[in-house]
Amino acid sequence: MDKLKSVEEGLKVKKEVLEISSELISSMGQFLRRKGFIEILPVIISPITDPLNHSVFEANIEYYDGRYSLTKSMIFHKQLAMRIHPKIFSFSPNIRLETEDKKDSGRHLIEFTQLDLEMREATRDDVMSLVEKMLINAFENLEEKFGTLLREMNPYFSVPETPFERVKYLEALEKYGSDFESVLSKRATQPFWLIDIPIDDREFYDKLDSNGKTLRDMDLIYPYGFGEASSGGEREYEYENIIRRMKYKGNDLESMKWYLEEVKKGIPPSAGCGIGIERLTRFVCNLEDVKSARLFAKRPGELSI
Ligand code: AMP
Ligand code: MG
Repeated sequence: MDKLKSVEEGLKVKKEVLEISSELISSMGQFLRRKGFIEILPVIISPITDPLNHSVFEANIEYYDGRYSLTKSMIFHKQLAMRIHPKIFSFSPNIRLETEDKKDSGRHLIEFTQLDLEMREATRDDVMSLVEKMLINAFENLEEKFGTLLREMNPYFSVPETPFERVKYLEALEKYGSDFESVLSKRATQPFWLIDIPIDDREFYDKLDSNGKTLRDMDLIYPYGFGEASSGGEREYEYENIIRRMKYKGNDLESMKWYLEEVKKGIPPSAGCGIGIERLTRFVCNLEDVKSARLFAKRPGELSI
C-alpha cells in the first residue's frame, strides 16, 4: 500500500464543490421530511452488516468475546427500523475496504456516505417516483442558488425530466453485451433506471419476482458515463424466503443469526434505496474522480488522512 498521502491531498477539494454538496444534502433531507420521513442516526458498528455482492477486505473490531463489523450498508437496520416508523432515512457512513483495482475507477472510495431510505409497505415504483421527485427538487434548488457557477463547472447540468426511462437489465445485456451499463451511461443525456436485475447479480435481500429469475429492484444510472448512482428495491421479509435466498447465495447463516431471529418474529415488508452522496456530487459538479467530491477522501489501496 502507498505510504500515507499528504494532508493537502485530502484537502484538495474546491470550496464550491463542498457548497453544492452541502446544498444537495440539505435539499434532500428537507424534501424527505416534507414527505413524512424522519432522519435516524446512522449505525457505525454492528455484529451484522451487508454481505455485499462483491468481495472487500473485512473491517471488524474485536470487543470482549464478540465482534463488531464496520457498516457496509444499513440495510438490515433499515428493515428492523420499519417496525417503529414507516418512513426513515439516514446519511449513513459506509466502510467498504475495496480492492486496489478499483482505485482509478473514478467512482470508488473506501469510506463514503449513502442517503439510505426505506418505506414500509412500499413498492419499487413508489421508491423510483420518490427519488425522481427528490432529485428534481434538489437540482432545481441548485439551479436557483448556483446557476451560473454550476454551468461553468458543468456545461451539461440540467434538471432531469420525469419519468426517468426504465431499461430492463436482461434486454440491455442482450442488446449491448456485458458492458451495457457503461455503454448506456455514456450514451445517455438523462438519468435512467435499470430494472429487473437477475438474482445472481444482487444480494439475498432484494425481493425475487414471481418469475423466480429477476428481482424487484433497480439501479439508477447517471448519464454522460458517470455510471451507477443508486441501488434499491423491494425487500425480502419472510423468513423462509430469506433462508432460501441466503443458502442460494452461500451467505453465512450463523453470523446473521440475530437478524434471522428478528425476521422469524416478523419484520414489515418495505422498499428503499441508497444514493451515494459523493457520486451525486461528482455527477452534478462534473468531476473527473469521486475523490474530488468530499474532504478527506479515501481511495482504494491508499492510506489517507
Ligand atoms: P450499493 O447498495 O452497493 O449499490 O451502494 C449504494 C450506493 O452507494 C451506490 O449506488 C453508490 O452510489 C454508492 N457507493 C457504493 N459503493 C461505493 C464506493 N466504494 N464509493 C463511493 N460510493 C459508493
Ligand atoms: Mg449498487
